[in-house]
Amino acid sequence: MEFTAIASGSRGNCIFIKGGQTKLLVDSGISALRVARALAAFGEDVRSIQGILVTHEHHDHISGIRMLVKKYGLPVYAAPMLWQNLPFTEAMPSALRRSYSSNMQIGEITVSFCRTSHDALLPVGMVFSHGGKRLGVVTDTGMVTPSMLKCFQNLDGLILEANHNETMLAKGPYPAYLKRRVAGREGHLSNKQAAYFLAEIMAGKPFPVMLAHLSEVNNTPSTARREILACLDLAGITDDFELHVGSPCMPHPLIAI
Ligand SMILES: [Zn+2]
Ligand SMILES: [Zn+2]
Repeated sequence: MEFTAIASGSRGNCIFIKGGQTKLLVDSGISALRVARALAAFGEDVRSIQGILVTHEHHDHISGIRMLVKKYGLPVYAAPMLWQNLPFTEAMPSALRRSYSSNMQIGEITVSFCRTSHDALLPVGMVFSHGGKRLGVVTDTGMVTPSMLKCFQNLDGLILEANHNETMLAKGPYPAYLKRRVAGREGHLSNKQAAYFLAEIMAGKPFPVMLAHLSEVNNTPSTARREILACLDLAGITDDFELHVGSPCMPHPLIAI
């Protein structure tokens, strides 16, 4: 399997995953043009995408979907109860509206879902399986729940939110209500929380990780890397695994697992 973030951050998210001949996007909170260009740079045609999977209805995850559907006729997958709350539902041909089911098969990839803890209607993380490999995707969650720990076992790769450094958030310019939201149980994962999660699920078998959804105000790529590697070191996990950081404006090169 191959994966990467075409864009990652609070200004817009889009993840690309390829397993065999099956190509999927997770979310699209950036323009259709940016998605098409990034895919072309990977040698892929945007029209060959077999589905866009929606994690939740926040703007930074869905704002580009309407145009991708309109221009390229891509099918969109979402939790059944989400469909009446997505702003592009009415504009979409019903044949392109698909609902999640457990252990859903799209082409050569199997997708399973896990509820996350975020202030949205039904936020989910996902595990993609293909050719004996398992790739997890978790962003936009204020905490790691016991069921998430269970879902994300035995991974071979992971895209994981590392939204903020707790001190930078506390001392930073956000208004108090926003600081509470971000740090809350239905907000976003801090670097430290991401590291604890990794330490739990990596034990004994490190795998490539891409840090995602970094705040441009309350984090930096080097802060996130440093903090996470230090926490993992304390947990006895050395840095002999790939640790990538997704960018808000540049597609990251493809990562193979
Ligand atoms: Zn969100
Ligand atoms: Zn988000």
